Amino acid sequence: MAEVGQNVARGGQGGPVSVSGGTSYPGIRPLNPCELEIDLFCKGMRIDPSCALEQDARFITRTRAGLGSGLEIVIPGPLKDVWVNVPVEEDFAQQSCYRLALEDGQYFVMDERQNFHYPIRIPPEPAWYTRLTSRGTPMHKVGVLQGTYLGIYISNSCGFWYYSPPLNCRFCATGLNVGVNEVAVKDIEDVVEVARAAKEESGVTFVHFNSGYQTERDLDVAAPYVKAVKSRVGALVGLQLIPTLDFWKYDRLIDLGADHFSFCYEFHNPEYFAKFLPGKQELVGQQTFFRALEYTAKKLGKGACSGEIIAGVEPLEDTLKAIDYITGIGAFPTVCIFRPTIGADMEQWPSPRYEDMLVVFRHLYEACRKNSIPMDVTPNIEVSLIVQPGDTRYLAPRAWSTRWYGLKMAVARQLARPYFWWKRRPKSIAASDVLSPPQ
Ligand code: SF4
Repeated sequence: MAEVGQNVARGGQGGPVSVSGGTSYPGIRPLNPCELEIDLFCKGMRIDPSCALEQDARFITRTRAGLGSGLEIVIPGPLKDVWVNVPVEEDFAQQSCYRLALEDGQYFVMDERQNFHYPIRIPPEPAWYTRLTSRGTPMHKVGVLQGTYLGIYISNSCGFWYYSPPLNCRFCATGLNVGVNEVAVKDIEDVVEVARAAKEESGVTFVHFNSGYQTERDLDVAAPYVKAVKSRVGALVGLQLIPTLDFWKYDRLIDLGADHFSFCYEFHNPEYFAKFLPGKQELVGQQTFFRALEYTAKKLGKGACSGEIIAGVEPLEDTLKAIDYITGIGAFPTVCIFRPTIGADMEQWPSPRYEDMLVVFRHLYEACRKNSIPMDVTPNIEVSLIVQPGDTRYLAPRAWSTRWYGLKMAVARQLARPYFWWKRRPKSIAASDVLSPPQ
């Protein structure tokens, strides 16, 4: 077994490993951690009866458009450990060649095609998940860890679901889930207590607020949460909200301490955007996403904001164009591999092909390198729902340009440490959390 780990730890450059009693396929090498991450997103994984996930794992929760419905695992590797939220409940996962098994206290992802065994870690459930806030709210109903950051869904009232017929994004299951496993609208005091617990006990450095459509009050609703966490807890704060052309609202949120904005425009091809995101098409518009992303990316600087897209639905060339556009304006691409989540309108859509996704993420690495987008510079932010730009270092070609970019990022990581330490201290904020336009 250790030999398998060594092969994987060398970035998959070693030879195939046969497991006793199984068949080996000469010439086929083990996948490196990022390749395995991509294949797990595409194929999902079955759970072997040997596993003891009830005691070893974080509970599987359905939040965040259903994408967080998988099992969190960590694939160790020499460049970095890779966090993945692996689909395990969907139909396609039941057909997967991957199986999670527990042997002698060690978890392995077994690839039954070649009999490769990949040792992985299962991050344990934090102790604070089962505690109550002082208002009596279970802490896990306020926020959950997604990778190493704290994700808080501000409100369950995504307005798109309340139109007749509904205008929800077709891949989304949020309207079915939030409020069932989570508190519908988050109380500020609850949020502060949970963020504090997550920071002190789980080492969280980043709190991410997310919300569906709030009938054009999206940024206003988020403002008090930003101020409370920045002033009373101290953490990097990110916001993922439906965008606005009232750019002064972004200025106000930055005054309150917002460090990051991400914009889920999902599809670059306007026809796919209109077809699969009817609410965003009718009530917001793709151009609003672009203008808000461009404004905030310029305001906060290179690598601070992100454009979020889904790969595996629109034509591949549109996904590549999206990556070029996002990196070209100095933002970083957060690319989700499409997951046909249970209950979503697109539940019956096929999961993407591994080979196509490999093309996407190799391109993503190159686009980030060409545009000098920082990778893994912020401390301890590992996102399990996407293939992070930093994960794609495992896909980089062996070239001097790769080494040079890696060196620059290593230096940037060291230089950024004191800056992010300073950014994570609680600080008094004079600005009002009631957003008002400039006079
Ligand atoms: S904006 Fe779209 S993806 Fe987000 S919660 Fe609403 S329907 Fe779901």
